[in-house]
Amino acid sequence: MIYLDNAATTKPYDKVLEVLKAYNTHFYFNPSSAYLEGFEVKKAVNKARELLASLLGCNKQELYFTSGATEANNLFLQGVITSNKKDEYIFNLGEHSSVYEVANFIKSKGYTVHFAKLLPSGQVDLEYLKSLVNANTKLVSVMHISNETGAINDIKDIVRAVKSINSKTLIHCDGVQACGKINVNINNLGVDSYVVSSHKIHGPKGVGAIFVKEGVNIKPLILGGGQESGIRSGTENVAGIIAFSESAKLIIENMDANHKKVTALKNLFLENIKDKLSVKFNGLEDENSPYILSLSLAGIRGETLVHLLQKRGVIVNTGSSCSSNAKRAGNRVLEAIGLNKEEVSGSIRISFSEFNTEEEVIASCKIFIEEVLGLIKKVS
Ligand code: PMP
Repeated sequence: MIYLDNAATTKPYDKVLEVLKAYNTHFYFNPSSAYLEGFEVKKAVNKARELLASLLGCNKQELYFTSGATEANNLFLQGVITSNKKDEYIFNLGEHSSVYEVANFIKSKGYTVHFAKLLPSGQVDLEYLKSLVNANTKLVSVMHISNETGAINDIKDIVRAVKSINSKTLIHCDGVQACGKINVNINNLGVDSYVVSSHKIHGPKGVGAIFVKEGVNIKPLILGGGQESGIRSGTENVAGIIAFSESAKLIIENMDANHKKVTALKNLFLENIKDKLSVKFNGLEDENSPYILSLSLAGIRGETLVHLLQKRGVIVNTGSSCSSNAKRAGNRVLEAIGLNKEEVSGSIRISFSEFNTEEEVIASCKIFIEEVLGLIKKVS
């Protein structure tokens, strides 16, 4: 199998599997226990927090573990809503469903919610976003890298622009597709919250983290034993948290080399298919994240192609798998960047990881071209 759907999830590192096993075999104690074994486990969780915080450029007291990015996005976005109906909330139209659906929820509660348009590049339209900010703006939410197109938003610039209009506006950033892929320094970005997910960086599923800037008050979503400083109750996913911090360390240590490798793989993929197929690159070819390649192919349906490729051992996706049951989030995002119906329907997302090889790209391109040409022939 050639796995090219790494934006959906990634293969865990060997080290991650080792840590998971160790913490589920020998060190399975509850970190809130009063005895020594529990205390040792608590210390290990806090060491993981310290490591992740240092890798992300924030203080360990500002980092909380959750069950993943979906929970973390909900925690912050639902946690900052006040009872003041004058407050306004702004969301980038390209956000992941775990943010976009909260926006709809806030709207359904009678609050004023604005959606900021996207540029054809896939980035949020900053001029438009700025025009939405006013004295009542409570929150702006803009993701770092789009999981649909790989477009990169200049978060530092967005924070500066928004805060210069209203310094009290909170800025939330979903950094799931950025962590480990580009340089992330949370303090330097100036955001009020930042979300990361373990399974996108070769860590285990079901664990994530959120940075909440000191002084920003959020109401917890889950009440209970008061773990994670009361922000997120529930016995900690100890093995997951420690394995997550190890995966973050490994991916960030090798970030530059991985980035170079993946850029070469993406370019090789494009070179191989460009003159053989009528293909449109969605976004800015040289500025996008190389990890995510969104293409539109004329005259085919993306879903059909995904199934045909899967039968031949090549795994790609039409877009975000988190929303495959509902109207695809990818369609919302691709429509928002100006794609017509045919381009949206013919879209495909190929996403790489450091585990992919040149041989895999060459082999998958050959199969890709054969299947696309076969489909076009069938239709015409
Ligand atoms: N945000 C983005 C940008 C994502 O790509 C994803 C995963 N598809 C999520 C949030 C949700 O992450 P998790 O699976 O950890 O809930």
